[in-house]
Amino acid sequence: MFDTPLTWHENGYLFMTGQPDIMAKLAEAAALQKSMGLTEVHIVDPEQIRELVPWIGTHGLLGGTYTPHDGRVTPTEGVAVLMQAARSSGVRYREHWEVRSLERAGTMWRLTGPGVVEAERVVVCTGYWSSDLMRPFGLELTIRPQPLFSAITGPALAGLRVPLTIDLDTGLLIEREGAGLVIAILFEENPPGYGHTRMLEEFGELARVRAPTLADLQVARHVVANVDMGGDGQPYVGLVEDGLWMVAGFGGHGAMHGPPVAELLAKVIAGRPDSTVDLGPLSPWRKPGATTEWMVAAKKG
Ligand SMILES: Cc1cc2nc3c(=O)[nH]c(=O)nc-3n(C[C@H](O)[C@H](O)[C@H](O)COP(=O)(O)OP(=O)(O)OC[C@H]3O[C@@H](n4cnc5c(N)ncnc54)[C@H](O)[C@@H]3O)c2cc1C
Repeated sequence: MFDTPLTWHENGYLFMTGQPDIMAKLAEAAALQKSMGLTEVHIVDPEQIRELVPWIGTHGLLGGTYTPHDGRVTPTEGVAVLMQAARSSGVRYREHWEVRSLERAGTMWRLTGPGVVEAERVVVCTGYWSSDLMRPFGLELTIRPQPLFSAITGPALAGLRVPLTIDLDTGLLIEREGAGLVIAILFEENPPGYGHTRMLEEFGELARVRAPTLADLQVARHVVANVDMGGDGQPYVGLVEDGLWMVAGFGGHGAMHGPPVAELLAKVIAGRPDSTVDLGPLSPWRKPGATTEWMVAAKKG
């Protein structure tokens, strides 16, 4: 698909839970994925989890799902390769060009930033900045930046495969980064004053149960980055006004969901909507709460 080589770290993806209703939802999602042709999605019980990730403590777990062929790329490398592929299809970029206003100009749209650009069709895909940009059109979106406090550890779990591992009941997240790990706790909303110190304390407490050998890891670096949270957990995709579309608000899943959703929207804009997927329920104009997201990994309390 891409001419430029890209390193793909195929570490797999493992969700786990001790909640019967979440386990049932995971099984439902796996059945749907299989019905769509994904063969490598496995429902796993605690014993299978122990075999896959022997460093996980399975006390209180009912099971989870494991997709061995999932993986990750380094974000900067991934974006560079996507840009390169789009460039070779004729896409042109203006970098460091902040759109400060977007307004109608006759039959065109006028974008004003460091200069002025007019276009027949505009797609706003500005992540958590989209709430502000879309407000003048009457859309009250609540997509917002939520800092995710994580840390990169020193060398750990040498020689072992470390899937992106998420405990859906506590928000505990562990994934491979070089010889070390990325560790974090996922929240729907950060508690007031939250930061690395508290995250690492709480990670230690949770890890004593769920990943005992990782409870006292040496931390090499603190990392903080904003996730595009808010809304009802589903992206806002579709027509805003004639000639103006938007796609934003992926709730921290946009690396996975962004590319196929963008392709579906491109088909709609080109007048050839996909016959198998209806983007209607994702309309930016949907009523608050019209869609729901159940897969929220979050520490309780
Ligand atoms: C630490 C972390 C880990 C993550 N892990 C995962 C993961 O494992 N899997 C996954 O699927 N997702 C993950 N995500 C989420 C994923 O990165 C986002 O959902 C995704 O990047 C959203 O894509 P987007 O194109 O909608 O917005 P963005 O990637 O935020 O892109 C929006 C772009 O618009 C630009 N922009 C904003 N305002 C303007 C303006 N006025 N004019 C011009 N340009 C503007 C911004 O500079 C930015 O480049 C993670 C996010 C973080 C922070």
